[in-house]
Amino acid sequence: MSFAKDPKLGFEGKPGQESPSGSVQPKSIFKILPPANAGWPKNTVSLDRDGPADSPEEACGVFGIKLENASVSHLTFDGLYALQHRGQESAGIAVSDGEGITVVKNMGLVSNVFDERTLLALPGGMAIGHTRYSTTGASNWKNAQPIFRAVGETGFALGHNGNLTNTAELAEDIGLLPGLAISDTDALGELISRNFPKEPDSDSLRDALLKVLPMLKGAFSLVLMDLENLIAVRDPNGFRPLCMGSLGSGWVFASESPALDVVGAKFVRELEPGEMVVVSQGEPKSYFPFPAERIDPKLCIFEFVYFARPDSRLLGKEVHGTRRRMGQYLAMTAPVEADMVMGVPDSGVPAAEGYALESQIPYGQGLVKNRYIGRTFITPDQAQRANGVRRKLNTLTENIAGKRLVVVDDSIVRGTTTKAMVKLLREGGAKEIHLRISSPPYKWSCFYGIDTPSRPDLLASDRTIEEIREYLNVDSIAYLDLADLRKAIGADNGFCDACLTGNYPVEVPVRILSAAAAENRVG
Ligand code: SF4
Repeated sequence: MSFAKDPKLGFEGKPGQESPSGSVQPKSIFKILPPANAGWPKNTVSLDRDGPADSPEEACGVFGIKLENASVSHLTFDGLYALQHRGQESAGIAVSDGEGITVVKNMGLVSNVFDERTLLALPGGMAIGHTRYSTTGASNWKNAQPIFRAVGETGFALGHNGNLTNTAELAEDIGLLPGLAISDTDALGELISRNFPKEPDSDSLRDALLKVLPMLKGAFSLVLMDLENLIAVRDPNGFRPLCMGSLGSGWVFASESPALDVVGAKFVRELEPGEMVVVSQGEPKSYFPFPAERIDPKLCIFEFVYFARPDSRLLGKEVHGTRRRMGQYLAMTAPVEADMVMGVPDSGVPAAEGYALESQIPYGQGLVKNRYIGRTFITPDQAQRANGVRRKLNTLTENIAGKRLVVVDDSIVRGTTTKAMVKLLREGGAKEIHLRISSPPYKWSCFYGIDTPSRPDLLASDRTIEEIREYLNVDSIAYLDLADLRKAIGADNGFCDACLTGNYPVEVPVRILSAAAAENRVG
């Protein structure tokens, strides 16, 4: 395969040369092509979310596609674009044309990293893609995904959504010196490559995974590929979502179903917790590499509350409908006399619709979001977060002045942005503000792939409901009960709710807890 030299694409690895990702270029089949401006792009990294509300930060989005006789880079771009809400720090695509794998990745949004010219330089019928929000490892180019590993004459690319909880043990087991693995995904890539047979063949990636996967603990939805095979894996708890679809005679995997819709794929099903699906020639083949006793479905309940797109289908239900029902249960359990129900844009809106429906209080808009601000670079400083609210939101004063408002949001993590939003509404003339939250108080840090602040920074970690009300300066506040949250979703169990209850379904090793305690993340 000949590699076009594109000045925009920049670095082209030579055999044996260390690439900017820290990987070594193999003899001929791989290349990494970071755009020439690799590094921190302007104005594309967000330490805040795309909206003013006060919720935990997203994890990552993964996408994989294999089609016969087609070029899939544009479809992969579209799939990643539909998953942009899951990670805005970096984006990347690895494409195989059957003879070589090319990886392009960089810091920034999908649309910052890829343009027509970049995509045209990525021919091939199989690809994986990734959008990243860092939960372990620093936010820098080296940690952008997909990562790749060369193994002899072959190799593979890997994209990971989640967080391994036994990275240090895995690294020790394979003799990686402390600090050599720059992230859990990096250590995983190394572990897989070391389990390839001495003389790799077309099944080597599958066989290596069958050996390695049972060693992993924590949360991992993975997409991987070598030259010929596309593989998707979901951990035995199914912490993070992963679904598959069909497109003609080809197959597509994605963190969320809208990424299937956007490429025209037909939703087939969600992967089972503990399932590995291999697409080689013909029909996909399923493997279940984990011991039966480890299969224990624990889908992150916050996928329903906040992370997933409202048009996603999880556990057979459209997420928007579950959020509307959360609002309905909230209206039943926490009624209040008011003139208008409003949602905090955008994620509080479906639950606000439900609250209004159930309470028969008119629904209206009280806040307008600046749709063009995009992701602004905001340092995790409390004062700047508060200013960020003013940048993103403005009040509809004619709608709220003199009114008793029910304000519905999905969650409160720090409380800083909620407090600033309440101040805006009061300045806009709201007579009363009754805050209704469509999930229980967020009290515990997440170790399964969601970035949450230090525990003392979680508003509800050590405050009573009355103290929270006072801090936020609202007339009343109520949270949805966990049992009602489950009822709204329509399933009694099968969820992780550790950040709400402190019941961690997969043991968090002492060394991680100690590190977190040192940062006051648990206690
Ligand atoms: S701790 Fe919370 S945010 Fe993390 S996986 Fe569990 S439910 Fe989701």
